[in-house]
Amino acid sequence: MTRALLIVDVQNDFTEGGALAVAGGDRVASGITTLLAGHAADYDLVVASRDWHDAHGDNGGHFAGDPDYVDTWPVHCVAGTTGADYDPLLDTTAITHHVVKGQGRPAYSMFEGATAEGETVAELLSAHGVLAVDVVGIATDHCVRATASDAIAHGVRVRILTDLVAGVGADSSAAALAELAHAGAELAPGRADGSDPDGSDPDGADPDGSNPDGSDLDGSDPDRSDPGGRETLDARHGAR
Ligand SMILES: [Zn+2]
Repeated sequence: MTRALLIVDVQNDFTEGGALAVAGGDRVASGITTLLAGHAADYDLVVASRDWHDAHGDNGGHFAGDPDYVDTWPVHCVAGTTGADYDPLLDTTAITHHVVKGQGRPAYSMFEGATAEGETVAELLSAHGVLAVDVVGIATDHCVRATASDAIAHGVRVRILTDLVAGVGADSSAAALAELAHAGAELAPGRADGSDPDGSDPDGADPDGSNPDGSDLDGSDPDRSDPGGRETLDARHGAR
């Protein structure tokens, strides 16, 4: 099965020491590097996004001096600055497509961005016949959530490598993962060391092999997730 890895916003401003640092960001960056060292060949495409805001103005209300950390944020990821660069712990050599998003406006999902050639992520996935994606990066409760949600809507199989994501809030991150599982994503732990977590085929022949005994590995059993989560997701989409 044609598979892509989607690496969301592993940038200096979102990792330790950054303007909008997310705890665990460095761990995610180095974990993705380890994954790619052992498994880059599993992926036909490796697409990485960067939040890439204008230096002037508030980017459509995205920046605020008194941010609420829900809809408004401190200044971060200004295009061309060190904060907007990929974290140096992320080895970018295996990345096949670089996407930027958020120029002059809020953009959480990498599906809202484009490559330098103007291709959207949806266009890339369609053009390459991608049927499944693995999603990793920052932040679980914001840009990973929005990206995975758009990938589900695009119609590909979505697996979130839960050891390779980091979120702003623990509760909101757990809720985001539960909501995505409810919407159809598979939550797959165990790839942070570059090993295959479950012995499942990278071609996706084993759709549920990550959880062979049916146990609830991460506490986010979709059947027991917050029933309001989906409404929240839909409402957020409608608001865009
Ligand atoms: Zn932003």
